[in-house]
Amino acid sequence: MSVDRNMQHLHPTIRTRVASVVSILNKEGLPFKVFEGYRSPSRQAYLFSKGRNGVAGPIVTRARPWQSMHQYGCAADLVLRENGRWSWDDSGQKRKWWKRMHKVAKAEGLEPLSWEMPHLQLPDLSLSELRRGYYPENADESWANNLASEIYRSQRDGGAPPVPSLLPDRPSLNDNPDEEQMVRSKVIARTGLNLRAGPGVNFPTLSVLQPNSFVYVIGQEGDWSQVDLEGDNLADGYCHSSYLRQV
Ligand SMILES: [Zn+2]
Repeated sequence: MSVDRNMQHLHPTIRTRVASVVSILNKEGLPFKVFEGYRSPSRQAYLFSKGRNGVAGPIVTRARPWQSMHQYGCAADLVLRENGRWSWDDSGQKRKWWKRMHKVAKAEGLEPLSWEMPHLQLPDLSLSELRRGYYPENADESWANNLASEIYRSQRDGGAPPVPSLLPDRPSLNDNPDEEQMVRSKVIARTGLNLRAGPGVNFPTLSVLQPNSFVYVIGQEGDWSQVDLEGDNLADGYCHSSYLRQV
């Protein structure tokens, strides 16, 4: 299960704050980098299983899925990156580096945890509120889309919070009250179907509708259907009903 370092999956507020913390520290020669940003509920479940119920290794987290700020894109872990390797070393001189990291993080508006050195999160958030869908303000689509897809993915297992409301608005399907009454039909005439100016073969042909194309039937006159080609509820002409199949 791979570690997510895509900063776009973090809430934009922590995204910018973490970026400035890393930049400040790097300028001071302290090689902190984002080790993990967003953490999926399934990865959280995997980490929680470590050291429990016969799974090997030490216990690495107290949080079950949706119980860590990482699942909401509101936390990130900064770890030392030295000679191409991640290092949690806090011995000797390096103890000061981690202290400095916490200090800079606080100054930039992030909250460190005393029992989990690399962890930084947005301050003043409550997990119980996040679980009920009260998300931080100033969200953006890349954060919301990622969170929503993880929520949908984990809904089977239960415990998932509500989907963030920020997702791009789509007009309601009932915005056009007439649309419900419009019947979509497919042209099933092999060689195409004449669209006529009126309900009969004596009316002039306006155009020929391609086989397998779609029309909206908005009225009936005998064996003839009044059709709308564009879905704007305006009549474009008439077709013989026997070559239309409702879909
Ligand atoms: Zn963390």
